[in-house]
Amino acid sequence: MIALLGDAAWARRYADARDLAFGAFLAALFDHYAVALYAVIAAAAVVVFGLAGHPPILLLWAALLTAGFYSFVEYGLHRFILHARVLCRSPLTAPIWRRLHYDHHMEPADLTVLFADPKTSVPLLVVLAWAGAALVDRPGMFTAMIATNFCAFLYYEFMHSLSHLPNAFGGAWLKRKKRNHMLHHHLDEASNYGIGSNLVDGLVGSAGETTTTRSPTVRDLGYDEATATRWPWVRDGYAKKRAAGGVVVAGRA
Ligand SMILES: [Zn+2]
Ligand SMILES: [Zn+2]
Repeated sequence: MIALLGDAAWARRYADARDLAFGAFLAALFDHYAVALYAVIAAAAVVVFGLAGHPPILLLWAALLTAGFYSFVEYGLHRFILHARVLCRSPLTAPIWRRLHYDHHMEPADLTVLFADPKTSVPLLVVLAWAGAALVDRPGMFTAMIATNFCAFLYYEFMHSLSHLPNAFGGAWLKRKKRNHMLHHHLDEASNYGIGSNLVDGLVGSAGETTTTRSPTVRDLGYDEATATRWPWVRDGYAKKRAAGGVVVAGRA
């Protein structure tokens, strides 16, 4: 039975998880309401697509488009939106940036911000589905893109969670992906933007261990005292969260 836990409850349940086997790891993921929600949306899209009698070949087209663009979308959003320090400049967008990325870099083991917030991920995936349907203008393409996009996001959440949770499975490929993401968090945030795919990092030369010197901004993403003086909402919001015990760190529960 899946638990459909929110961020804080999920973090408390899994903070002391150790050496998760594959089955236990999947069960843990689906205990988070957002992961279950993505799976339900993807499955519902497939059912709607089938009931409407659309040609199955469109699902293949949607899968190819989603897979083809995945690396570029992941890299582009991570590098140019989440690391751009633009969203911190308004009291309206500062909480969004904190929830999406700042808090996660400040404390990579904080499980309350491990999963994306569906309030941002769902609209994003719908817009991307619309873009795919605009590229292949056929009835049913939007529904097919909804199915494949939400599957792709499930893959992303799987890969990202795997990077941050102690797991007892996976071969060299998964270990390399996990290591690359840890390098992004603990060595140089300007490398290894890709989480499910390092294709673009490979193309632009930012894959793997690109330096031996730890970046001074690997935690705060360059949101320093001077930035906080001008745009204080991120600093103040994060301090309030810490003070209220809102950070739940894996391995220290
Ligand atoms: Zn991460
Ligand atoms: Zn990052």
